Amino acid sequence: MFSHYYSQLESGATGIIAESDIAPLEKPTRLEALRYYRRVAEMFDLPITFGETVLSLTTDAATRELVVRTRGTKGEQDRRARAVVFAVGYYDHPNHLNIPGEDLPHVSHYYNEAHSSYRQRVVIVGGKNSAAEAALELHRSGAKVTMVHRRATLGASIKYWVKPDIENRIAEGSIAARFESKVVEITPDAVVIEHRGRKESLPADRVFLMTGYHADFDLLKACGLEIDPATNVPMHDASTLESSSVSNVFFAGGVLAGKDTAPIFIEKIFEIIIEINKQGTPILLVEQNALMALEVAQRGYVLETGKVALADDAKALRENEDVRKTYLGEE
Ligand SMILES: Cc1cc2nc3c(=O)[nH]c(=O)nc-3n(C[C@H](O)[C@H](O)[C@H](O)COP(=O)(O)OP(=O)(O)OC[C@H]3O[C@@H](n4cnc5c(N)ncnc54)[C@H](O)[C@@H]3O)c2cc1C
Repeated sequence: MFSHYYSQLESGATGIIAESDIAPLEKPTRLEALRYYRRVAEMFDLPITFGETVLSLTTDAATRELVVRTRGTKGEQDRRARAVVFAVGYYDHPNHLNIPGEDLPHVSHYYNEAHSSYRQRVVIVGGKNSAAEAALELHRSGAKVTMVHRRATLGASIKYWVKPDIENRIAEGSIAARFESKVVEITPDAVVIEHRGRKESLPADRVFLMTGYHADFDLLKACGLEIDPATNVPMHDASTLESSSVSNVFFAGGVLAGKDTAPIFIEKIFEIIIEINKQGTPILLVEQNALMALEVAQRGYVLETGKVALADDAKALRENEDVRKTYLGEE
């Protein structure tokens, strides 16, 4: 259903939204995405209260209504509902390193923009997507960047178009990197790391701790919503996304990721496609990530200037030498 509205929004078919306001964008920027969300809110005339924090949730034993306790600018209040969807994401709660200096003013768990780090010595801690994207942007904006990662290689879940870029910058030395290194302390002008028992002090004017985020597990618990102790995923029915512990409470979006938020926006889509297909729905997948697409598809087509240049079993296409060299970037 959403895709139907999406196309209405894109095409301006509703007459409410001009086509120029919502250009179909392959990789929208934050501002473009926010503009799109505002348009959705206006199109459906969504009632939204701002600056109101959900504190807890209970069920009224007499009416079976859900009672959501919130705190806003006018104090605390109860909001009653037949159903509640928890779409609280995970971005409000960074994973802390719990080391000395983490709370210094030049240290942040959030990366916003690069210009203010121009000609600064920047240390980025982490080896996944956020770290890689911040490192590239900062490097290209004139910062002297060093990445520190506790593992031997960068995360496999880095976006496929970002990964070769960051790996090449590290290989050529324009972005410095320390692998298998643990941050032990941050001082006002350095980041102290430890690699195989040896300490090193990296000079740093700014430090970005891109060590991930997690959902507000305390809030979920305060609402009586059980979470899986191993994964921290809220317990739910996979087919309805309804909570297993409180009826008529549902989960949506990032909160379902639990501890492992990295796969949510890339690999997940392929898992969902495989699942929909398993349930008997044929899928025509148009995807620029040809490697992943050929891994999930049964059959593949290569289009060149609008004509089918090659058609074969997906596995055969995947192994076809010409396809590998020309479209998959393999030698
Ligand atoms: C640094 C970073 C980069 C990313 N880049 C990409 C990308 O390029 N492409 C992509 O597809 N995905 C990306 N993601 C993932 C994407 O942002 C999330 O998958 C998506 O935002 C999840 O949507 P959501 O609605 O579940 O949560 P969110 O978008 O996080 O929204 C949750 C909202 O709930 C609010 N909230 C939380 N607790 C309460 C409370 N107690 N009371 C009231 N309100 C509350 C939050 O303040 C927030 O406004 C990125 C994530 C991060 C952190």
